[in-house]
Amino acid sequence: MDKELLAMLVCPLCKGKLKYDREAGELRCHYDGLAYPVRDGIPVMLPEEARVMTVDEKLPSSPGRGGKA
Ligand SMILES: [Zn+2]
Repeated sequence: MDKELLAMLVCPLCKGKLKYDREAGELRCHYDGLAYPVRDGIPVMLPEEARVMTVDEKLPSSPGRGGKA
């Protein structure tokens, strides 16, 4: 997915940054514990379409999330 597009995307609920999971093909909000699907390269930013993440998925996969400030 386009990096610039990705940078523009925020969670519709908390307006927080989303983390793109390339393997799962979804955008995750760790604040709300929701994963938004990406269909045909188009992010579906609808809370009713989002999947509730499991407890394990909510754990940060790497320290210093977000990368550059
Ligand atoms: Zn959120």
